Formats: sequence, C-alpha cells, structure tokens
Amino acid sequence: MFIHNKRLQYTVRVARPNPGLANLLLEQFGGPQGELAAACRYFAQGLGEDDPGRKDMLMDIATEELSHLEVIGSLIAMLNKGAKGQLAEATQSEAELYRSLNGPGNDSHVTQLLYGGGPALINSAGQLWTAGYIENVGDPSADLRTNIAAEARAKIIYERLINVTDDPDVKDALGFLMTREVAHQQSFEKALYSMQANFPPGKLPGMPAFANTYFNMSQGEGDMRGSWNSDENFEYVSDRDKQHSVDGGDGSASVQQLDQAELADLQALVSRTASDPLADPQTGVDLGAGAPPAR
Ligand code: MN
Ligand code: MN
Repeated sequence: MFIHNKRLQYTVRVARPNPGLANLLLEQFGGPQGELAAACRYFAQGLGEDDPGRKDMLMDIATEELSHLEVIGSLIAMLNKGAKGQLAEATQSEAELYRSLNGPGNDSHVTQLLYGGGPALINSAGQLWTAGYIENVGDPSADLRTNIAAEARAKIIYERLINVTDDPDVKDALGFLMTREVAHQQSFEKALYSMQANFPPGKLPGMPAFANTYFNMSQGEGDMRGSWNSDENFEYVSDRDKQHSVDGGDGSASVQQLDQAELADLQALVSRTASDPLADPQTGVDLGAGAPPAR
C-alpha cells in the first residue's frame, strides 16, 4: 500500500516565478530520464522480484522516486505560479500576457496554454510521457544494469538543469535530487555485484569461440588499441577473411527443409517478379526529362 505524507522529501522554495525554467524542469517530471519513469521502472521490477533483498531495495527506491516526482512537480508548480494566475484572470493586457508566454528565453506556451501552468506529464519539448521509456526484461542481471544506466542519465540531466538555473533555492533542491540519483546508482551497482554470477546476464554462457573476440570491423586511420580490445583481454581479429563465415560454413543463408507447396509458391513468386537484365524500359523519369521551361 501507499500512504502519503504531506511534507515533501526536500523543502521546495523558489525565488520568483519563472515559467521558462519550469518548462525545462518538465524534463525530469515527464521525460525519459525523469522521476515518473524511474518510479515506474523500479516499482514494476519490485513487484516481479523474488529475492527479498532486491525486492525491498526496489520498493524503497521506487517510493523515493515518487517522492522526487512530488518535489520536481512542486518546483514546476511554484515557478508557474505567476503565469498561472495571470493567464486565468486576464488582468493584464493581451500584449503583456502574450509576452509572458513567449518572452525571450521562455518556451512555456504549451505548458501555459494547454496545461494552465500545472505540471504536465510531458518532457520539456511537449512529448507525452510513455511507458516505452521503461525497458524492464524481468532478469536482475539485465534490469540492474538498466537501472545503473538510468541513474547515470538522470544525474546528467539534473546537472544540466543546475547549470542553467541561477535561482539558488532551485539549484539547492535540484542538487538534492541529483545527489539521490548518485546514491541510487551506488545501491544498484552493489546489488548487481552482490549476485555471485552476474555476467554474462542470464544463465546461458556465450559461445567460447566468440565470447572474447574483438572484430576490428572498421579499419583505417584511427584504429586504436586499449583494454577494450587488447591482446591481453581479447582475440583481436583484423584479417578480413576471418571476419566472415566465422562458423566455418560458406556464409550463405538457406532453409534446409521447404515442403513442395511452399517451394512451388516461392518459385512462382520469383519468376513472376524476375528482373530482365536485357530490358531498358522507358520510364516516367525518361518521359519527364528535358530542359526546364524558359522564363
Ligand atoms: Mn529520483
Ligand atoms: Mn534514482
């Protein structure tokens, strides 16, 4: 169950209304790296988790992310307070209101006109939030890696938002949210490595002949060696003839068994649509070709 505590996880103060900044903060309310996506990602993982330690951690962090959603949404609502009343009550001139929506550095017209200044589940460009932001596959060694990457991305978005904000109170609250993503990343890393077998993800091992091979597929000036492709860690394959048909076969694609009816249909299709290398048909390109009309 969920209960709601009326106190926020972190106190929200903003110096003054700023609808343009509110619009940017939507990135972490309804965007792909935002708090709703994070909460839903960990909540769905937690419901399906059978390991008691991971289940507890996922539910703790999912619930904290909802609390972050509340903080970032409250920041957006406070930053929109001025514009919200002005637009609803229309006590200013049309020109003043128009400028307040479209003034320099203020790209908030969609959130103001369509959503009335309330925090909307969209990103800063107006893209609707979607469950497609969540990529759970139901395997802890894969999903924990997703979580680690997601926390890293969320941290970066907060960092960018902090860099474009000069309101010290907004900076402070964003700094808290950013810091919590760093803490979450640490928990997910620890949880991943506390699983004794966590690589490769899943149960099946890779094929030994290819599991530690590095194919130097892009060749030319700029080829570079490092631990990611070193002879110490990988078998480095540059020979073009050793990059194809690596199974030892002929590198072609075929079906071993097609029944007679399938084969007959396929052959009929192939002969009906066969191209004639001797034909040079006149086409619309030829008919329409010519000098442009004189002007
Ligand atoms: Mn968060
Ligand atoms: Mn987080």
